[in-house]
Amino acid sequence: MDRTAIFLIALTAGGFCFSVSAAQKPDNLARRATPSAMSASTASDGKYGVLRLLDGEDATHWASGSAYELPHWVKLEWKESVAIDTVVVDIFARQGANLYAFWREAEVELSDGSKTTVKFGPGESGWAAFRFDEPVTTTSVTLRVLAVYERKTYLGINEIGVFLDPRRLIGPPREMVRAKRREELTVRGSPSHPVVYATAEDLARARRNAETTVWGKAEKASILAAAAKWLEHDENYWLQFLPESGACYAYGFTGCPICGSPCGTWGGARCTWDRPRTVVCAKGHSLPDEGHPDDGTGYVAQDKRIHYIIGTWNAWVTEQWTRNALPSLAHAYALTGDEKYAERAALFIDALASIYPESTSGSWDYPSRPPSGRFARPWYQVARNLVVYVDAYDLIYNSKALDKPSLRPRLHDTLPDGPSAQQRSVGTSDAKGQSWADMTRRENVDINMMQDAAYYCYKHTFSGKLHNGHADYMRGALAVGVLLGIPEYVYNAVESPFSIYAMVLNNCDRDGRYYETALGYAMHARELYLTFVEPLEHWRCEKYPEGVNLLDDARMRSFYCLPDLVMNVAGHVPNFGDCGPDNHCRFAQLTPFSSRDYDYAERLHAACSGEEKETYRNLFSFLSRLFRRICGRILAVVGCQGCDIVRFRRLFEFENHRIFW
Ligand SMILES: [Zn+2]
Repeated sequence: MDRTAIFLIALTAGGFCFSVSAAQKPDNLARRATPSAMSASTASDGKYGVLRLLDGEDATHWASGSAYELPHWVKLEWKESVAIDTVVVDIFARQGANLYAFWREAEVELSDGSKTTVKFGPGESGWAAFRFDEPVTTTSVTLRVLAVYERKTYLGINEIGVFLDPRRLIGPPREMVRAKRREELTVRGSPSHPVVYATAEDLARARRNAETTVWGKAEKASILAAAAKWLEHDENYWLQFLPESGACYAYGFTGCPICGSPCGTWGGARCTWDRPRTVVCAKGHSLPDEGHPDDGTGYVAQDKRIHYIIGTWNAWVTEQWTRNALPSLAHAYALTGDEKYAERAALFIDALASIYPESTSGSWDYPSRPPSGRFARPWYQVARNLVVYVDAYDLIYNSKALDKPSLRPRLHDTLPDGPSAQQRSVGTSDAKGQSWADMTRRENVDINMMQDAAYYCYKHTFSGKLHNGHADYMRGALAVGVLLGIPEYVYNAVESPFSIYAMVLNNCDRDGRYYETALGYAMHARELYLTFVEPLEHWRCEKYPEGVNLLDDARMRSFYCLPDLVMNVAGHVPNFGDCGPDNHCRFAQLTPFSSRDYDYAERLHAACSGEEKETYRNLFSFLSRLFRRICGRILAVVGCQGCDIVRFRRLFEFENHRIFW
């Protein structure tokens, strides 16, 4: 795969480009011509003036005057005659269809009177070429719009090109890659689980570490303690808290309607299981109350601001189950194989999946109109929870608890016939998942949660932006792709113009620094990109029989090589970009150490071979010597055993794993 090619596609997609390389491309003779037009919306150098016909900018266009008459001409003239055989026009119509007419027929006339005509189908107004069989010598090109489908306010042209192109090298610009329809995607299944962030081998190692090491025993005890509280109570107790389909979710930005103090957000909201459908503000007001009722769509105060009290509660429930119950139960199951953990995890994930595809708004108070997402999570944040679902589901995938009947068919009968609360209140379109009579939990989670969320993420990976939100969308779809064997999601992550490789190449410089210079963002991007590594490593198909080793990429490796310590200047880090001001009094450490750098060095070592491996072994040996000097004790990790620890930790805190000793 030519990574440079990917890079160029990503940059030029959407531009006025030609499907030939720069070396072969004939000269655009239009650039030497003087343009004029029968009418224009602005003066020639204005926003819609005739100079916009030739400026090579896709973001600008020429527009006729609003009182234009047909036929309407634009003209290019040369002081000395030129030999040409091709005129191309990039029509501006689809981009502003309410104001710009779609062309039906147009002609090109040269100074000797020779003409050629092109007819357009409805909706076809885009790139078009007018060809002459033989080169013609001319001093002018007149392009006439003869007829349009429906008269609109303007005629528009992005750009005109004139070429001598006997070999017919000039062609339409490359099609933008677009999302496939959900029905076009194949779900092949995976031959074994777990397969996404961990494998059976990782599980065996984790179980061994949990029995044979001091830190492992401590870690196991804390996981089982966290899981134990989710084993309390019977199923019906927990299911009473499940929000309705299309219910309200919210950050709760407006706080308490009585005193204005905060009520907490999502999983951190001030809610408890023994006070259902209520939240307590930081000053102790319990809401809703008699004066501040909430029917589920929020309490509207006199100042018209909306206080989403039930929305805060619903967000708390789904976030608690997602971020606390599922990981601890699934990790306890992975460590012990005890079915009681899988059974309870299956209950929670099936319940969440039963209302998942209908909960399409995200938090109602997120500043987008209409809001979009799943449960409380808006937009790219859908992926943040999706990877947690994938990890938990993958770990319990082999349990029979998932073959039990799903809650979904029972809930399906309660779905509202008309628009749900979210569509009525914030305008997010309702959607419907699938149900059938004897649907199992596994079928429900596969279809209504995993495939639904993955497609939501996947279709957002074609926006042409390569920021962190994009990385989230891409990794969400990738995780499900590997979990359920959906090749398109994997290929999209490694082969598309917006792939992880394009992200690394565009966003990471030769010194391994990130383009958003604020160091916090940069570190977040590193954590995000790292979550592509395992799923790609574990993926198997005819095309990638050994998976994809992302750390084979030199620039990807440089991104993880001492990112923290090289920025440490006498205990401070430079506050680049939009970092807050650094007004702390800090002293330089005699021996600086970064556990994050150590963690990355271990991963690099684990992923490489030969000379590279030796380099990274030296790096993490160096870092462990620093650590030893600080703490006066010997770091209990060497070589592969070190990797064990990272992998072990990742199993249980894979989103923000820390090194553990
Ligand atoms: Zn209050």
